[in-house]
Amino acid sequence: RGPTAQGRAAAPPRRTSRNFSQYESFRWTGQESPEYFNFASDVLDKWSQMEKDGKRPSNPALWWINGRGGEVRWSFEELGFLSKKVANVLSELCGLRRGDRVIVILPRIPEWWLANVACMRTGIVIIPGTTQLTAKDILYRLQVSRAKCIITTDTLAPAVDSLAIEYPFLQTKLIVSESSRDGWLNFTELYNMAPADHTCVKTKIQDPMIVYFTSGTTGSPKMVEHTQGSLGFRPVVSERSFLELTPLDILWNTADTGWILSALSSLLDPWILGSCVFIHNLPQMEMTTILNTLTRFPITALIGAPTLFRMLVQHDLTSYKFMSLQYCISGGEPLNPEVMEQWKIKTGLNIYEVYGQTEAGWICSVSKGMKIKPGSMGKAAHPYDVQIVDENSNVLPPGQEGEIAIRIKPEKPLGLFSQYIDNPEKTATTERGDFYVTGDRGTMDKDVYFWFLGRADDVINSSGYRIGPFEVESALIEHPAVAEAGVVSSPDPLRGEVVKAFVVLSPGYASHNQEKLTLELQEHVKKVTAPYKYPRKMEFVQQLPKTITGKIRRNELRNKEWGQV
Ligand code: ATP
Ligand code: MG
Repeated sequence: RGPTAQGRAAAPPRRTSRNFSQYESFRWTGQESPEYFNFASDVLDKWSQMEKDGKRPSNPALWWINGRGGEVRWSFEELGFLSKKVANVLSELCGLRRGDRVIVILPRIPEWWLANVACMRTGIVIIPGTTQLTAKDILYRLQVSRAKCIITTDTLAPAVDSLAIEYPFLQTKLIVSESSRDGWLNFTELYNMAPADHTCVKTKIQDPMIVYFTSGTTGSPKMVEHTQGSLGFRPVVSERSFLELTPLDILWNTADTGWILSALSSLLDPWILGSCVFIHNLPQMEMTTILNTLTRFPITALIGAPTLFRMLVQHDLTSYKFMSLQYCISGGEPLNPEVMEQWKIKTGLNIYEVYGQTEAGWICSVSKGMKIKPGSMGKAAHPYDVQIVDENSNVLPPGQEGEIAIRIKPEKPLGLFSQYIDNPEKTATTERGDFYVTGDRGTMDKDVYFWFLGRADDVINSSGYRIGPFEVESALIEHPAVAEAGVVSSPDPLRGEVVKAFVVLSPGYASHNQEKLTLELQEHVKKVTAPYKYPRKMEFVQQLPKTITGKIRRNELRNKEWGQV
């Protein structure tokens, strides 16, 4: 592999209480956003310079392992050097121009980070996609995005070729592979040969940088456009990043590369802070691999979706002693308080929750110094003014349920997406009065902590009671028989709709009498939450339908209940 030979740094220093404040030196202190900003030249190349000047510890910028002995460690300087070579491949050899779109579907390999930085250097717009995409998903993405280039590996190249459709826009196919493939250029060979001198383009702060397809939890994935400013510059100006890291930290994000959580927590935010990004290429989400990695490497911070923590607490953690882990973060879905408590009991560590969206990046978070209120997503993330609003966009007082919204007038805050591409009607539906509305419902308490109730469509209305599925799911999970639960509304002649739970049983409970279990679980929910929320209907299933990012697709369960397929 090309990059593996590069840059073996000395073992990173262990985290100490010494405070590194150099990173403040390129924090933006002006009142207004600059006209031009480019994450590669304005952040990464500055770190590279600071390394040269001895102002950054010798922690790598990127530390990758494959679990089979393969390892890559790059300093910011090496990252700069290699990404400039890739930038030359994209612009000189592939003829891509600023503003062109490139679909990048790569597993967690260093080339994903190189492709991202190279796109920044050239002003090419990157569209990350997860490797779990099928041929049909790729077809959809190529067609709607009009991408001129696709970068992928041996695993997915056959799927692209099988489509056997001419894309009028697609000019180049690049494969990250040790062998060649007909019709494809070899990414690794080309960039090994390419020159390393490259001048970063001067991008305007509102120039597009990344286009994401949403998770598609509620329908077809939408193309969300972010700019140099909304994703790259936002953490530079934020008074505090939601991630509290220093250049001594080593952050491991387990999320897939196709998800915005990866760009934010495996690239942009940690590199703003000069921290090391740790990557395990994890072909499968194997919990013992994750636990062993935390035991063997000096990872200080871990971020993942709640399912990661849900699965980890099912393991006997007593035989693992984490080397340096201090800081755990969960985001992307609600985190069950029970999981948070179990994790604390078993590891002594807190889990800090973050709430975000493809459209808005981080919206709320619990930061390190804050009091943790289990079940709450914390307070508004800088620079957002987050409020709970009603259908007429009136701000609601603490305790009242409404839609979670971000104030966009008189000025749209840095961080919000610019548009759903080719869908102005859909973009317009996200604006209501002075607010951008998230489509999520919740409440704010008097301490300005936000509490998630559910996606607007998921909230159940039974006999006039409004019930958030997550609360019922969390109550069910507290029972040892339940590994996972998905809760939706189900038709009922008397009440209009009632609560129905789809339950995945924990190992060891599969052979239990299901009728008895149903009654036991119903009693359990009545005990631990308001009794009216208990699931009147229950079905035991082997697994729950999920999006490729691991979120429960409640709409699919609901459609089944209501007879819509
Ligand atoms: P689509 O918009 O295509 O249906 P999606 O909304 O799942 O997909 P994402 O942008 O990946 O796509 O997910 C954002 C949503 O995930 C939020 O709007 C919210 O519903 C949910 N979410 C994220 N973080 C949290 C959290 N900490 N607590 C509760 N919900 C969360
Ligand atoms: Mg959404």
